[in-house]
Amino acid sequence: VTGVDGSVDTEVVVVGGGIGGLATAFALASEGRAVRVLERASEFTEVGAGLQMAPNATRVLARWGMLDRVVDVGVRPRRLAFLDALSGEELTSLDLGEGFRERYGAPYVVLHRTDLLQVLVDGCRDVGVELVTDSDVSAVHHDEGGATVMVGDRRVRAEVVVAADGLRSMLRERLDPTPPVASGYVAYRGALAVSELPPEQVPPDLDDVVVHLGPGCHLVQYALRRGEILNTVAVFESPAFGRGEAEWGGPDELDAAFAGAGPRVQRGLASLWRDRRWPMSDRLPIDRWVDGRMMLTGDAAHPMLQYLAQGACQAIEDAACLADAVGRTGADGGVDWSTALTMFVESRQPRTARVQTTARTWGEIWHVDGVARMLRNELFRTRRLDDYTHVDWLYGDQSPIPPRTT
Ligand SMILES: Cc1cc2nc3c(=O)[nH]c(=O)nc-3n(C[C@H](O)[C@H](O)[C@H](O)COP(=O)(O)OP(=O)(O)OC[C@H]3O[C@@H](n4cnc5c(N)ncnc54)[C@H](O)[C@@H]3O)c2cc1C
Repeated sequence: VTGVDGSVDTEVVVVGGGIGGLATAFALASEGRAVRVLERASEFTEVGAGLQMAPNATRVLARWGMLDRVVDVGVRPRRLAFLDALSGEELTSLDLGEGFRERYGAPYVVLHRTDLLQVLVDGCRDVGVELVTDSDVSAVHHDEGGATVMVGDRRVRAEVVVAADGLRSMLRERLDPTPPVASGYVAYRGALAVSELPPEQVPPDLDDVVVHLGPGCHLVQYALRRGEILNTVAVFESPAFGRGEAEWGGPDELDAAFAGAGPRVQRGLASLWRDRRWPMSDRLPIDRWVDGRMMLTGDAAHPMLQYLAQGACQAIEDAACLADAVGRTGADGGVDWSTALTMFVESRQPRTARVQTTARTWGEIWHVDGVARMLRNELFRTRRLDDYTHVDWLYGDQSPIPPRTT
């Protein structure tokens, strides 16, 4: 038992060592805070699949000195292209080239989750974060002087606790007792070596992030790790979920959901792992992220459906904003945590709420059928390719980390 006399073991405990937790730990330690990360798994790792990082996140990585390494282990895609999954027609695209990088002050990068986590782990070690695995946090008790984090029989005293324990956050329950909202959609993923794929399974446009939009389903493909790995994600609405069955989203439903899709999408399905699947859930935005000396971040605060590819990007923005707030409220070597946490939530809540709700709407637009699909396709077809109005708010200077600061 440590710290029972009221002294602290560390200034900040971060619960959870995913992208959000590690990014927060790095950012706070870079501001001179003493940080310990408690992760329940036996190592800092993520499922080996891909992640898209938009410039609102890569600007932060640039500021942290991590962008070169991220670009080096990732891929800078040429375009984000949207195709109709049934007809195979390309409907529209977003040019992610040099003009895009200049507009937003940082590139669009796709990379292996493990690679990003490794960059963050190394960054944390460089700035002196204590990284502790095998630490399943069971509770946090707070008092005037700080908080006590329970890990089995162990106690850790801290001035402030950051709950970065993900979508199913146990620590969030004190602020919001409701469970995550199941969307009825399920994701299958695959990340396979391009060199080991039959040639017909390698998409013709490996330089692009390609999204095939179908009724109640979609398929995304892009290359990772300098083009060596093909990442595939297939998502569909489960009829068994709609019928209220306990078991839903199995491989039989996967094949049935894409039965009407064109040959290219059918070939893409062959690149999926079929023994694992990820049911998709999110939550509605909440206003309160702070309970005494404990605050939520990342998916614990604002879990979203993945259609905008922003969950991890927003967790990285969170980390940068929290560190900014801490930097602004610090004096004489200490931090006014209560003011810093208030500033953090005020700056982050409206933006992440918008991303959460827009992600849902964007997913609905992807999955329409019938007349709505015809209208969606016509709107997409007639969109000017140099029109960035729909992404400026997300990638550009309305984000809390504006382009010019890097
Ligand atoms: C199919 C799919 C595709 C996606 N694509 C993208 C994308 O392209 N771009 C993007 O930005 N986002 C994407 N996302 C979202 C992104 O993966 C998440 O938003 C992000 O990983 C959240 O990070 P986090 O650190 O908040 O939570 P998590 O990654 O869930 O990490 C939580 C950590 O806390 C640990 N933990 C939990 N409970 C405890 C406890 N009690 N004690 C100690 N440790 C604990 C867990 O072991 C875990 O390591 C996608 C999500 C999905 C499902």
